[in-house]
Amino acid sequence: LGGPKAALSRPCRMMLLVNPQSGKGEALTLYNNHIQRMLNEAGVPHTLVITEHQNHARELVREADLSQWDALVIMSGDGLLFEVINGLLEREDWEDAIRTPLGILPGGSGNALAASIHHYSRSSPVSSEELLLSCGFLLCKGLVSRMDLVSVQLSSGPRLFSFLSLAWGFVADVDIESEKYRHVGAARFTVGTLVRLASLRVYRGRLAYLPSTPSRSPHKAPRGPPDSLLPPLDQQLPGDWVLVQEEDFVLMLAMYHSHLAEDLLAAPGAAPDDGVIHLFYLFLAMEKGEHLGTICQHLVYVKVRALRLDVLPKDHHAGRRGGGVRAAAGRVRWVLSGLDYNPPSCNIWVMF
Ligand code: ADP
Repeated sequence: LGGPKAALSRPCRMMLLVNPQSGKGEALTLYNNHIQRMLNEAGVPHTLVITEHQNHARELVREADLSQWDALVIMSGDGLLFEVINGLLEREDWEDAIRTPLGILPGGSGNALAASIHHYSRSSPVSSEELLLSCGFLLCKGLVSRMDLVSVQLSSGPRLFSFLSLAWGFVADVDIESEKYRHVGAARFTVGTLVRLASLRVYRGRLAYLPSTPSRSPHKAPRGPPDSLLPPLDQQLPGDWVLVQEEDFVLMLAMYHSHLAEDLLAAPGAAPDDGVIHLFYLFLAMEKGEHLGTICQHLVYVKVRALRLDVLPKDHHAGRRGGGVRAAAGRVRWVLSGLDYNPPSCNIWVMF
């Protein structure tokens, strides 16, 4: 990766968490066929842990004696690393725990972080088993880089930590709805996209963001890393935030890495520790009167430090604006992962 790197100590005691159900269900076979020998030949002792159910990895790292491990590595999709990061940040000793070097080997259907790390290593694009081998070699080299984490505050629940992206609208629906095509691997996203394109929806919401500028002093957070940029949810947006005028969206996508999937380079300029959220939103501009029926779509790209999304109910209309914090329909999907702790310089609020 770019920027300053530290090397893992040798020998490195590595916990390798493999999700046998990730992707097409081949992660364990891929480990047996490729990774086990590669790590052994590189002299990297590792303990294999096969995850047995959802949140197994999260519970495991929350309770683990971390002094026994020099690195925690997952072989799965991005979802398993989300569990590991959130498990680490739920610990009493989160500040030390999140400094444990983390690694990822692509074994799932969504391998965006692995593809991003491969991209940062300035190697030419590859996918599938070639990406796995590339990430295996990077793991054997044992270099550690810092990576941003994003704090996600749901109005209805606890705080979460995101390492990869946060999506609402089209992208989130494709992600969730394509679960049923899991058996086709990464192609599930292509199938899901075609299905959703055929029945395109409009999602109503109010989006605001803080443009990328030098950081300010932190706000106090109840637990875990401080939120450096977010005033409490029930307070008005500070003057340096921008409120997007449109309220009819096709999608909102916040990314902190280059890739959204193995073969989807969505934010080429992204770096792992630049403290920047790459925000994309696509809105529908429906012209009234003479242009009735004409629909123009607009994609906006802006670099931000924080954002806030208020999902509006289906029957929302302009007259009800200004009602303060609100809860409503809508779905938000997030996914995460990380390598080393970087005090979170980006924050996201999601209200729904
Ligand atoms: P994929 O990219 O294929 O979806 P993920 O790593 O995102 O792969 O895995 C999806 C989810 O599977 C993870 O969030 C995790 O909670 C869950 N999981 C882990 N182990 C198991 C298991 N043994 N059975 C079922 N689900 C599991």
